[in-house]
Amino acid sequence: MATLIRHPVSALGSGVSYSVTEMSFGESGPVVLIQAGLHADECPPLLVAARLADKLAELEAEGALRAVIRIITQANPIGGSQWLRGHHVGRFDLSSGRNFNRDMPGLASQTMKELKRRLSDQPAHNVEAARTLWTEALSGYVVESPVDALQVVLQSRAVDASWVLDLHSDDEAEPHLYAFDSSKEAACDLGQRLGASTVLLDSPSEAASFDDAVVAFWAELDAAFPNAGFHEPVCAMTVELRGTRDVSEPLAAHDSDALIDFLIGRGLIVGQAPEVSGDIQVHPLSGMDPVTSPDSGLLLWHTALGDEFEAGTLIAELYRPDRPNAAALGIRARVGGRLIAKRGHPWVRSGDVIAKVSGNQPLAWRTEHLLGGRR
Ligand SMILES: [Zn+2]
Repeated sequence: MATLIRHPVSALGSGVSYSVTEMSFGESGPVVLIQAGLHADECPPLLVAARLADKLAELEAEGALRAVIRIITQANPIGGSQWLRGHHVGRFDLSSGRNFNRDMPGLASQTMKELKRRLSDQPAHNVEAARTLWTEALSGYVVESPVDALQVVLQSRAVDASWVLDLHSDDEAEPHLYAFDSSKEAACDLGQRLGASTVLLDSPSEAASFDDAVVAFWAELDAAFPNAGFHEPVCAMTVELRGTRDVSEPLAAHDSDALIDFLIGRGLIVGQAPEVSGDIQVHPLSGMDPVTSPDSGLLLWHTALGDEFEAGTLIAELYRPDRPNAAALGIRARVGGRLIAKRGHPWVRSGDVIAKVSGNQPLAWRTEHLLGGRR
């Protein structure tokens, strides 16, 4: 029986209350966490999660679930309610300026002393002990802001998860995924079902996005206690479901079907999933060049999503209305690759990321802040 759960978010202020909304399906088996709306202005995941929940309710009634599947239908009620002079702001906390999906709690080190005492020669026991201590560490986490409180609630839902799919969207984009070595094969499978062009591969980064923090927790324990059972107990990835305005019932039906087929393919739902087909490119995240605008002005595009081009290709021009007699400024690709995401609004400031060009080779200048820490 599907269960609707509301997780209160504390530390918001006098008289204010928010809650994270979850639908849970299935009663036993591995835990699958699928999260929508952490970046609250990224709209496609919200409808995909709703349609996924509809399908899971039917599958649960048929007795087809072999997992506990949690759908966070609204991960970020704080971001969802932020408006500034008629414009919605869902990526950053207006009060602090923090990106909601950065600097998630990193609690592995806090658990290690007690975990070492509890370790046995049974990997399953050890994983369970780590999860208990992780939960305790989250309970004791010093919450200094509403964003902290929200992040504690969200991470607590991933502690016992074997699968974590964090659904997002870019400004204007093709479907693409961010994954780790541990989730590469699964990300390619899901990506092909979604019709994605690219999987961007990296290690858990210092940006500490939601999936980074979950994978890093287990990776740090595995490094401290090799062979104790902490080698990849979770498969996590971030799924970019096209552009933020790409919201429609046909797209949501397609994407929720892809997610169901992916779960069938993993043995988490009983059924027949079609064979995957199509090409998908696996590129290093350090090979993705975030092209920035050299000045403020109006963007005029010479390329489109999905275009593949050589270094030096004219991506866009920038018309600067404060220099009406000057020629438009050309913005050229620094590297060859594929245009997987682009800026939707034509008016840009100097330094704004206007395009993401994904190439197959690591770039010398891409050594830190690979996710674009603050943006
Ligand atoms: Zn996002």
